[in-house]
Amino acid sequence: MGIDVARFCGEVDRDLLCPICSFVLEDPIQVPTCEHAFCKSCIFEWLTRSQTCPIDRTTIDALKPAPRIMRNFLSRLTLTCSNQTHGCPAILTLERLEAHLLQCNFDPKRLITCQSGCGLTMPYEESVNHNCLESLKIEMESKLAIVQKENEVKISKLQSELDLLKANQTVNQCTVFTDSRWLTNFEIVNVNSNFCLNSNWRLISRPVHLMLEVARECLSKSGCPLEMVNTLIQNSYESRWPPGLRSKKARRANQDRLTAYRCRYRYVRSPKFNFDLNIIMASDNTHMDQDIFVINPGFLVLYLNF
Ligand SMILES: [Zn+2]
Ligand SMILES: [Zn+2]
Ligand SMILES: [Zn+2]
Ligand SMILES: [Zn+2]
Repeated sequence: MGIDVARFCGEVDRDLLCPICSFVLEDPIQVPTCEHAFCKSCIFEWLTRSQTCPIDRTTIDALKPAPRIMRNFLSRLTLTCSNQTHGCPAILTLERLEAHLLQCNFDPKRLITCQSGCGLTMPYEESVNHNCLESLKIEMESKLAIVQKENEVKISKLQSELDLLKANQTVNQCTVFTDSRWLTNFEIVNVNSNFCLNSNWRLISRPVHLMLEVARECLSKSGCPLEMVNTLIQNSYESRWPPGLRSKKARRANQDRLTAYRCRYRYVRSPKFNFDLNIIMASDNTHMDQDIFVINPGFLVLYLNF
């Protein structure tokens, strides 16, 4: 779209008008074959609908910038600033218009800093109805909203951490409380010195389901709470034991230290299995350390009798 003819001083040559928009050519482009010139934006828009020259229907295969002489004529035309309606008195050549617009003091979109007290930056056009107090209030409210949002996120994160802590505490309290009751049903012994190798008894590092069902029943009958039964049963696999017990090699290496474990013991008979049930509770073994430290609530070790 070209520039309104009315803004120019004096008559503008017809050859400098765009046949599409009828305004003064802006960024002129020429069709090489017929030499007709158009605004760049006008002809590009035209080409989306038709591939022929709007004047003489010549097929348009290529476009090129308008000749230098035409561009020189255009650049020397004088016109008013685009902000004349906002009070700009400037009259300048088309060539200088772009540079002038960058610093025209009458551009309604230019940013200004309020000198009446608030110091806020705003487009000039908004400064007409500007009220320092009102603007500061809006500014404060939007900043406050951001801070509140951030706080809400922080609070909800802290709340979920707190919930987790409470949940853990409940589990621990429950462990400590129940230890003193149901565990008394088991004899307390030091772990057999043959924790890793035993001729008649074989340590089961991954008990089968049936064996665990028998162990589960034994624990339940002793008064062990269901949640604790489930955890201990899960902790009967080698992979859930302290690192210093997790393999035959590790157990052999730690053999001497392992006899310090205090363990709740029961010999279990069932139609299919006879086995030793060893309950190694964290609360009985706070003296153990490093890689054989017992994590709450504890773990089970089963020995099968051959
Ligand atoms: Zn045009
Ligand atoms: Zn043409
Ligand atoms: Zn101006
Ligand atoms: Zn202000």
